[in-house]
Amino acid sequence: MKFNPETYHIPDESMKPFIDDGEIWDFLDQAEPTAENVRKVIEKSLSKQRLSLADTAVLLRTEEPDLIEEIKQGARMLKEKVYGKRIVLFAPLYVGNYCSNNCRYCGFKASNKEAVRKTLTREELIANVKALEEHGQKRLILVFGEHRTYSPEFIAETVREVYKVKKNHGEIRRVNINAAPFDIEGFRTIGQAGIGTYQIFQETYHHETYAKCHTSGKKSDYDWRLTALDRAMEAGIDDVGIGALFGLYDWRFEVMALLRHVNHLEACYNVGPHTISFPRIQDALEYDLDDRYAVSDEEFTRLVAILRLAVPYTGLILTAREPEQVRREVLAFGCSQIDAGTKLEIGAYAENPEVDQNLTKEQFKINDDRTLNEVIDELLEADYIPSFCTACYRKGRTGEHFMEFSVPGFIKRFCTPNALLTLAEYIEDYASETTAEKGWRVIERNIAELGDPRYEQQVRQRIERIRQGERDLYF
Ligand code: SAM
Ligand code: SF4
Repeated sequence: MKFNPETYHIPDESMKPFIDDGEIWDFLDQAEPTAENVRKVIEKSLSKQRLSLADTAVLLRTEEPDLIEEIKQGARMLKEKVYGKRIVLFAPLYVGNYCSNNCRYCGFKASNKEAVRKTLTREELIANVKALEEHGQKRLILVFGEHRTYSPEFIAETVREVYKVKKNHGEIRRVNINAAPFDIEGFRTIGQAGIGTYQIFQETYHHETYAKCHTSGKKSDYDWRLTALDRAMEAGIDDVGIGALFGLYDWRFEVMALLRHVNHLEACYNVGPHTISFPRIQDALEYDLDDRYAVSDEEFTRLVAILRLAVPYTGLILTAREPEQVRREVLAFGCSQIDAGTKLEIGAYAENPEVDQNLTKEQFKINDDRTLNEVIDELLEADYIPSFCTACYRKGRTGEHFMEFSVPGFIKRFCTPNALLTLAEYIEDYASETTAEKGWRVIERNIAELGDPRYEQQVRQRIERIRQGERDLYF
């Protein structure tokens, strides 16, 4: 028995191992990617239905260039239909890199004697949060190694501390977590600190590869990790994020397994994951895996387009691991969140904001080190609405992404206006002059497109209040 029966009471169906490698390969092997089948699947998705595993396998097996372009075009259309122009921004904050696991791809692995280990002190944590606030960040994801130091109590305390830090108009309004899996009690402790999303990646869903990549430590237990979110749900955390680290095993298999995980959560808890992440492997200290399963840029952009079509209502998170041009292409497929102004070195936001990456101190290499303002500027230029909105979460409208899609008119009534208000705050407090000009133009254009004079007037009134110095206004 892998679980502690004292604390482990999940429903029977979720106790069953739900990833069957053979079954996933069967779906992929049986898929027939004829033009007719591919178009049928794209159409199904465009009518905003979730795709089945068999449907998704058809897209994953498509190799004909024209059909691949149709898949990408389908993702672009779906994005326009469902997501509109908002892109939510966040930053990762690495709190500590002590780790007792040996994940072969990770710079923090226990066997890395050269890695410089550090946990932020309370003062350092506050200084880093202030530095992030000074740039305009409002949403963070706190990241931890897996180590006894980072207990549920420690994580909960860190979350509370972050919410308390205020600098001028700056404050952090949503704290998400990426940390080791806990038992139900542990998750309860963390949930009570008021976290946003609890995020944990299975890395690879392929059993044999998982064993090969996770050679020692608690993370070597595949099932303990796979069932983490079942325990989180049991503990009352219903806002969760899943992910796979692309490059460890066949990317088509991993996309299918992510979908299987979504199905499992929906079947057992009636709520799927809020977000899916698809980090692609980057260089790291003592990286020692071969590149047999490396995912090319073309395959990567394709897999994001397929994920978008497969789960039209799930948030997709894209990170600074990806270079600018890849980020630009996949944003058009409906990624809903990106990080910006990212630094991985522990304490770097406050201490040495300009230094280059140093892999003895960081988990892996990133490829987009632009500042938050630079990223916002580019988003505005491309007619997106950069957003720091946290309204639903703070108004207790939980399951924000479901609300957004299931309530007719919700995006026009709430999401777009709230995104515009957070953009106005950013412009007033942090934007460069040129970014501010572009920002006001985007705000003006989008207010005019709201299509209802009452909404237009309400948004204009609130924007005026922001210009007069009020903050944190939302619908
Ligand atoms: N220790 C926690 C855990 O393992 O769940 C936190 C994980 S880590 C700080 C966040 C994620 O970074 C990992 O889950 C993994 O997917 C990803 N990662 C690790 N090494 C990487 C690498 N070399 N390149 C890209 N992503 C990597
Ligand atoms: Fe530790 Fe997470 Fe890195 Fe694995 S991925 S070595 S658990 S920090």
